[in-house]
Amino acid sequence: MTAPSASVTFGPEVADADRARLTFSLDVDVCVVGAGLAGLSIALEAARLGASVAVLEGRHVGWNASGNQLGTVMPGFGLPLADLIARVGLEDARELWALSKQGAEYVRTQASDDLIPGLGLSEGALEVSNVDVGDRLIARLQMLGEDFDTEVDGWQIDRVRDVLKTKRYFHGVHYPKAFQIDGRKYLLGLAALAKQAGVRIFEDTPVVSIDAGGIRKRIVTPSARMRATHIVLAGNIHLGAPAQKLSDTLLPVWRYAGITEPLGERLTEAVTFQGSVSDSDGVDHFRIVDGDRLMWSSPETTWAGHPERYAGAIARRIRTVFPALGKVAMAETFGGALGQTVHGMPQIGQLRQGLWVASGFSHRGLNTTAMAGQLIARGMYAYDDRFKLFAPFELVWAGGTTGRAVGYAVGLWERQGSALAGTLARYRERARARERIREARLAEANLRAGTRGPRPG
Ligand SMILES: Cc1cc2nc3c(=O)[nH]c(=O)nc-3n(C[C@H](O)[C@H](O)[C@H](O)COP(=O)(O)OP(=O)(O)OC[C@H]3O[C@@H](n4cnc5c(N)ncnc54)[C@H](O)[C@@H]3O)c2cc1C
Repeated sequence: MTAPSASVTFGPEVADADRARLTFSLDVDVCVVGAGLAGLSIALEAARLGASVAVLEGRHVGWNASGNQLGTVMPGFGLPLADLIARVGLEDARELWALSKQGAEYVRTQASDDLIPGLGLSEGALEVSNVDVGDRLIARLQMLGEDFDTEVDGWQIDRVRDVLKTKRYFHGVHYPKAFQIDGRKYLLGLAALAKQAGVRIFEDTPVVSIDAGGIRKRIVTPSARMRATHIVLAGNIHLGAPAQKLSDTLLPVWRYAGITEPLGERLTEAVTFQGSVSDSDGVDHFRIVDGDRLMWSSPETTWAGHPERYAGAIARRIRTVFPALGKVAMAETFGGALGQTVHGMPQIGQLRQGLWVASGFSHRGLNTTAMAGQLIARGMYAYDDRFKLFAPFELVWAGGTTGRAVGYAVGLWERQGSALAGTLARYRERARARERIREARLAEANLRAGTRGPRPG
């Protein structure tokens, strides 16, 4: 891998005087609540389709997860592919996966020199396995390549350990078409593109209540009122009062990350892969930035912590995975709260006529928020109802404070009574689908080997 490593932007947000608080009444086609990746992508796409759009942001653009991510853009969702197939079947899983790929391609298109320049795009991402399961690797490669039309290469242990000098990782799946960008610059670039397309962004403007009953919906902020034909709830876990029940369907998870001081040749000896690396358990995610620093995201909590307090934990984690690096010092830390759904898929859809939701993007937010932007804007203005593919992923209650503490969640929003039955039915459905896939693969393998499968009964 010879591509130069990317540089990244962190630190205070870029102030924009045009994004002042909303202090006057406003009538628009679309009101988006939240100026993270999701809200800005939807606003931009709705404006490109001709709508008048206002974004109301309670704090400032990208202060949470959206302005504090690692910039890795991959296809897929937080939910593992096998579980996705089990949940919706192969055909719908394929369509959903294709949408997630389109989301990644959308980011690539915006990351061009004419739209958002200077994002330092570099290619390739590697998913490494924490356990030695080479046999599963082949099935996964087959599934991704053949069934899901995704370019992937399988890396044997030696190849993985050649570019990552650690005994912790075994096989790897390399995605040559995945890429990474300066994630914060991308977010600010989206805000700039939205503004060029006519979107008005108001910061320091929390939405405190909505009335989504009529055709023209009402939005209340502390200093002004708005009316809109469509409201999009893109507030992630901080949405709060305007739709508390919706907020309660997300399990907040705070994830922390940091960038090391320059590591010099120590790093070149330990890590030569220049793309993003993530492990199969979702514990570590890292890449080289600025030539000889590591950007590393690892610890998570279910309570809000200060990222700087986790500097030591991140440094220790780096040393655990790459002992040869010795002691590393962190130059800066950052982090944000992710909204995780109980089923692992984002919440994308229309709750009632003109009231839309886009949240729960979890760890994989760059491609999926881009996808949501297109789906929701096209759902509003282009008679495109592909957003309905997300209908099987209901708004499942995430358990409130107690539930969060134990990380356990049951229940269905507005359908509490059928929660247990629904959960059990889904487990059964999942088990049946897994069995069907296993049988199909077995039959295929038997066919290739010229043998018969076991006789039924
Ligand atoms: C450390 C870390 C690393 C990550 N790395 C990657 C990565 O490499 N690749 C990737 O794909 N994903 C990554 N992610 C995940 C990604 O950042 C998130 O999925 C994504 O940012 C979620 O975007 P969002 O717009 O839904 O939420 P947010 O960023 O939380 O934005 C929601 C906004 O809505 C506002 N809001 C909420 N309620 C209201 C209200 N009532 N009124 C007005 N405004 C309101 C909030 O103030 C906030 O600004 C990472 C996340 C973290 C924390």
